Amino acid sequence: MHQSNSHLETAFRATLTPDVAVLGGGLSGRLIAWRLARTGHYVALYDQGEPSGYCGAAWVAAAMLAPLAEAISAERFLVELGAVSLERWAEWLPQLPQPVFFQRNGTLIVWHAPDRAEWLLFERHVRVNVPITMQRDGIVSLHGAQVTQAEPALGTRFREARLLVGEGQLDNRQLLLALANALDELHVKTHWHTHVREDNMPTAGLLIDCRGLGAKCAWSSLRGLRGEVARVHAPGIGLRRPVRLLHPRYPLYIAPKQNDHYVIGATEIEGEDMSPMSVRSALELLSAAYSIHPAFSEGRILELNTHCRPTLPDHRPILLWDGASMLRVNGLYRHGYMIAPEIVRETVAIAGALLNTQVKDLDDFNTWRTASRWPMLYRMAS
Ligand SMILES: Cc1cc2nc3c(=O)[nH]c(=O)nc-3n(C[C@H](O)[C@H](O)[C@H](O)COP(=O)(O)OP(=O)(O)OC[C@H]3O[C@@H](n4cnc5c(N)ncnc54)[C@H](O)[C@@H]3O)c2cc1C
Repeated sequence: MHQSNSHLETAFRATLTPDVAVLGGGLSGRLIAWRLARTGHYVALYDQGEPSGYCGAAWVAAAMLAPLAEAISAERFLVELGAVSLERWAEWLPQLPQPVFFQRNGTLIVWHAPDRAEWLLFERHVRVNVPITMQRDGIVSLHGAQVTQAEPALGTRFREARLLVGEGQLDNRQLLLALANALDELHVKTHWHTHVREDNMPTAGLLIDCRGLGAKCAWSSLRGLRGEVARVHAPGIGLRRPVRLLHPRYPLYIAPKQNDHYVIGATEIEGEDMSPMSVRSALELLSAAYSIHPAFSEGRILELNTHCRPTLPDHRPILLWDGASMLRVNGLYRHGYMIAPEIVRETVAIAGALLNTQVKDLDDFNTWRTASRWPMLYRMAS
C-alpha cells in the first residue's frame, strides 16, 4: 500500500515543474536538495556523476570538521561558521535514513621536537582567527605521558601536543550515499549521469548552481586547488582521532575512519590538474605518516587520489543571487564539510524567500543579507 502511494506520488510529481532544480549533486548540492525536500519543496537534482558521488571533490575529501585546526589558514568568519556547523551536523546526521560515521573526539596536533617553531606559528594564527572563548575552552596542552594517555598509539614519540577538544570528522562516502537514499525517500527527481550546460539549463522556479569547479564557465574568478590524499588500511594502529603533524615542509593529517581505514592528506597545489598523485606527493605523505607511526609501513595502500577544491580569490564561500532565478553556491575551498551545514541552512532559507517573493529585488536582498547570521556569505551579481 505504502509503496503504491509512493509510486503514484513519484508519477504525479514527474508531471510538475520543480520548485527548485539543484545543479550538481556533490556535497553542497545533495545537502541543499535534501533540506529543501524536507521542507516540502518539489526538488530536482542534476549531476554528471552517479549516486555514490564519485565525480566530486566531496568524494576525495577527508571530511574533517576542524575549525580550530583550520585556523592556521582560515579567517575568523570561517572558524565561526565551522563551529556552528559542527553542532548542526550532530543534529542533521541522525535524520538520514542510514548511519554515517561521525566522531567528535577532538583533533590532536603534534610536532617533532625540532619543529616546535611550527606550533608557535600556529598559535599566532589561532590568536588572530579564533574567538577567545573557543581558544580558552577548546585547546588543551599535553606534555609527556599526557600525550601517550590521550593517544596511546603514539607511544612516547611526541613530547608535546595540543588537543583541540570537540572537533570532529565524518565518513564522506557514507554521507554521500545516505544523502542519495534520502533524496529517493523524499521523491527528489534525481538526474544522475546528466551534464548541465549553461546554454541548456533545466526548467524550475529557482535554479541553485552547486557544480563546484564545474561552474567555472559561469564564474571566471573560480579556480581549483589540487589536493592529493592516500587511503590506507592499517590494522593494529588504533588512532582514536585525527592527528595533524605540524612540519615546515610536510604538514599532514591522518584521519582514522572505521575498520582501520586511514585518510592521509593532503597536498595543496595551485592549479586544476586532476591527474593521478605525483610520486613526490606519495613519498611525502606516506613518509610523514610513517614518522607518526612506523606501523603505517605495513599498511596497504587502497587509493592514491586527487581532486581540486573549488576556490574563489578570497577563499571565502559565497551565495550569489543573479537578481532573477539563479542562486549560486560555491567557493567552499578546503572547508566544505566543515562549513556546509550553515551554508546549506542559509541557502534553503533564501531559496524559500525567493520562491515566495519575500525577496524580489536588490533592496529586499540587502535587507535579507543584513538580517542574516552570516551577511558575509551573500553577494549579488553585478
Ligand atoms: C583532497 C581534498 C581533501 C579535502 N578535505 C576536506 C576536509 O577534510 N574537510 C573539509 O571540510 N573539506 C575538505 N575538502 C573540501 C571539500 O571536499 C569541498 O569543499 C567540497 O566538496 C565542495 O563542495 P561542492 O558541492 O561545492 O563541490 P563538489 O563536492 O565538487 O561537487 C560538485 C558536483 O557537481 C557535479 N558537476 C560539476 N559540473 C557539472 C555539470 N556541468 N553538470 C552536472 N553536474 C556537474 C560534480 O559531478 C559534483 O558531484 C577537501 C577537498 C579535497 C580535494
